Amino acid sequence: MALDLKANNISFSYGTHWVLQDISFEVSAGDFLGIIGPNGSGKSTLIKLLDGVLTPQQGDIQLSGVKLTDLTRREIARRIAVVSPGLWLNFSVNVQQLVLMGRYPHLGNLRFEGKRDYRIAREAMALTDVSDLAHRYFHELSGGERQRVLLAKALVQQPELLLLDEPTVYLDINHTVDFFDLIKKMNREQGLTVVVVSHDINLAADYADRIVLLNQGRIFRQGFPYEVITAEHIHTIYGKKVLVDTNPTTSKPRVTLFSDLLSRLTKEGVNNQPA
Ligand code: ADP
Ligand code: MG
Repeated sequence: MALDLKANNISFSYGTHWVLQDISFEVSAGDFLGIIGPNGSGKSTLIKLLDGVLTPQQGDIQLSGVKLTDLTRREIARRIAVVSPGLWLNFSVNVQQLVLMGRYPHLGNLRFEGKRDYRIAREAMALTDVSDLAHRYFHELSGGERQRVLLAKALVQQPELLLLDEPTVYLDINHTVDFFDLIKKMNREQGLTVVVVSHDINLAADYADRIVLLNQGRIFRQGFPYEVITAEHIHTIYGKKVLVDTNPTTSKPRVTLFSDLLSRLTKEGVNNQPA
């Protein structure tokens, strides 16, 4: 059945106050959705709700018409994979073992990996450029290396939907572009559906086809990047003046931070390079 993930008016609280309220949106097969919003606006919580790790107190989330609460972890994991920064393991497991764990939802009752599982793991590790790390301990890797290993683990799950929570915070610019290019390619060529949370508005605008902008636990706007990412919206939500023009290489909105201080110094010639 074609993938369709629907959040129907969900609200969630960790206890005392609502962290998310009245959230409704839909992700269909082949979508590439970006979720942006200030720190604490509820982005990571929303990812956990979409993966069924947390359950909303109000409303429900349906995966192809079935409530997430009516599915087992394994049933969800066959269709949805997550890369989230919370996944820092501290026990000694090497990279190849960890990546193979991604096959778990697909293994038979005996739960042994076969040749095919090893092949899928090797291919995913090559795609994410971690083949050389296969025999290293996961907990000894750098943040960026771990992030690429976790992507490999998510890919061997062969999900229809990939949920990514700030996947590139630890990555260099070259690995950031490689990471997003790989995801975009799988989105275009294999129909992989992607939901990515990013604090980098420009990255989200460049790669996502649609954007959800969260503010204080509510959807402030959702739509095409040019509809959501405007200087006025950014100013309203982040309280900062920005310039928004068009990225000449992607034709997507591009946000440039604006600092009164730097602007003044530059005008005075203080901030310029020597002629
Ligand atoms: P974001 O990812 O957008 O920065 P989060 O979803 O992590 O936002 O957090 C949203 C709000 O929920 C914040 O106010 C945060 O402090 C709170 N929160 C997050 N996780 C927990 C938790 N496990 N227990 C209690 N409050 C939490
Ligand atoms: Mg977060």
